[in-house]
Amino acid sequence: MIVGILGGGQLARMLAMAGQPLGIHCLFLDPARDACARTTGELLCGDYGDERLLDELARRAAVVTYEFENVPEASLRHLASRVTVHPHPKALALARDRWHEKRLFTDLGIPTPAFVAVDTRADLDQALAVTGRPAVLKTRTMGYDGKGQRVVRNTGDADTAFAALCGVPLILEGFVPFDREVSLVAVRHAAGDVRFYPLTENIHRNGVLAQSQARPGDPMTARAETYVGRLLAHLDYVGVLAVEFFQKGDTLLANEMAPRVHNSGHWTIEGAETSQFENHLRAVLGLPLGATRVLAPSAMVNFVGRLPQASAVLAVPGAHLHVYGKAARAGRKLGHATVRAPHEPDVLDALSRLRALVDLADWN
Ligand code: AMP
Repeated sequence: MIVGILGGGQLARMLAMAGQPLGIHCLFLDPARDACARTTGELLCGDYGDERLLDELARRAAVVTYEFENVPEASLRHLASRVTVHPHPKALALARDRWHEKRLFTDLGIPTPAFVAVDTRADLDQALAVTGRPAVLKTRTMGYDGKGQRVVRNTGDADTAFAALCGVPLILEGFVPFDREVSLVAVRHAAGDVRFYPLTENIHRNGVLAQSQARPGDPMTARAETYVGRLLAHLDYVGVLAVEFFQKGDTLLANEMAPRVHNSGHWTIEGAETSQFENHLRAVLGLPLGATRVLAPSAMVNFVGRLPQASAVLAVPGAHLHVYGKAARAGRKLGHATVRAPHEPDVLDALSRLRALVDLADWN
């Protein structure tokens, strides 16, 4: 069985690794010759708009999926007329534009921060009157890991934020003074079977996910499952969907959704009965879904910009190291460590040791 994947980064790589025991072979399309998934499957190296390569992907793969949101829509349309694409391109079209995404949340009764589309500097002033200050000005598309966004606290900020981001459609969002950030990773099969992983508590640094901790039994679980269930049903979704929320009091505000496997679900490789990667492959291929049961208290620390010594990571009890094989660059996700330990205090202890290795010892 061959699964085509648009993108050859670490998510594609972990999908391919999860597929190997099941006899699933992955074929990646990525413009980078050194795309890190290349060692785990076959790389078609070229532009996402290259119709010859898209046709090859469509001809050889049983199904095509994607590992990032910014796939050109024309390429997806081209593919979808030749081969099954999961999740459905309409889910991707909604997720890639923050305004459409938040409109969908609102239509489905899912709370989200106040938001207003902004195209001109005058729009920004009107939008600030709606959201209040502080607010966050973001590009509607192509933003990830905190890129393409600026906090606006005063008129000076509004000028500089607009000057920095203008030229593309923008969105202004109310700034949420959240108590914590959580995400819910879910998987849905074409036949309608839905499984949820436990709610995961996340910490970001400079807009990039730094740490995730699985929270089975979290009191916000039922609410998050209701919201994500609505999205899955509405989109007739197939595959893994992740939704990130801000929690303030007992309110969950949806920040964004990712129609793909998600960084906050990496702990499932060692921490859950079936990882998000395996379940995504099972779902897109129409295979029965695996249990999402948690095996033991679990968490993850990301290695961004620099990898710690493998020996130091592996000396932490319960730690499992994942190195993506990417060239080091500031702000780039190079690997992660999952921690799985018999008791929660052991996980917390391992997390603080891992954070110390990546100069984040002063957290919490
Ligand atoms: P995003 O790219 O939208 O996921 O934003 C990256 C991170 O920036 C989030 O995980 C939050 O930590 C922070 N952030 C984004 N939008 C807001 C907001 N409206 N209010 C408060 N913090 C935000």
